[in-house]
Amino acid sequence: MTLVIAMDGPSGSGKSSASKGVARALGLRYLDTGAMYRAMTWWMLREGVPVGDAEAVAARAGDPVIVSGTDPDAPTISVDGADVSEPIRTREVTNAVSAVSSVPAVRARLVALQREIMAAGDIVVEGRDIGTVVAPEAPVKVYLTASEEIRAARRARDLAADPAASVAVTQAEQARRDRLDSTRKASPLVKAADAHEIDSTELSLGEVIEAVVRLAKE
Ligand code: C5P
Repeated sequence: MTLVIAMDGPSGSGKSSASKGVARALGLRYLDTGAMYRAMTWWMLREGVPVGDAEAVAARAGDPVIVSGTDPDAPTISVDGADVSEPIRTREVTNAVSAVSSVPAVRARLVALQREIMAAGDIVVEGRDIGTVVAPEAPVKVYLTASEEIRAARRARDLAADPAASVAVTQAEQARRDRLDSTRKASPLVKAADAHEIDSTELSLGEVIEAVVRLAKE
């Protein structure tokens, strides 16, 4: 049976660094499902699709070819053959992604892609609905959290190149995204009943990785 480690949690909880670290420590592949929703959003914006119009987004959800690499040392994401690793991290995409990811046709398409990638072998998968929807049978499920202040500071650090991204602005945008992600009808962000909650506020990255590796070895 394939080993799937499901890593869910809100933005800025440290999921990406922890997930890559766990994959490296255990010699597993790694999938960033958030990058797939971002890639879909980047494509919709580029095509001029009004992202607030769920019907318009649904009508185009099948069009872009999204390919994710699964090497934790060099994760890649491309749309229609072009590398989009950088443009999917802009504030424009970040602020539009919740609207696009709330459209059921988008989720159905990307969940199917995610399951195909998972079926190819052992993997750490990070996202919002991995333990609840994408891989409810995953033997290891983690729900990673951190205080709001720490999460905003981490996000602001990620966006340091953007002069408008002060901690205050980032915190407000993050709170809005978390609210949208956890109140939407389609697969809202919720902790799976059988997930282990890890609060990373007071933990180093190494300690979080160690905790997940321990769970995987149980
Ligand atoms: O993890 P990241 O912050 O890059 O995710 C970007 C967005 O993609 C989230 O805010 C959420 O709207 C969406 N997402 C999702 N389901 C996932 C992963 C991400 O809806 N499994």
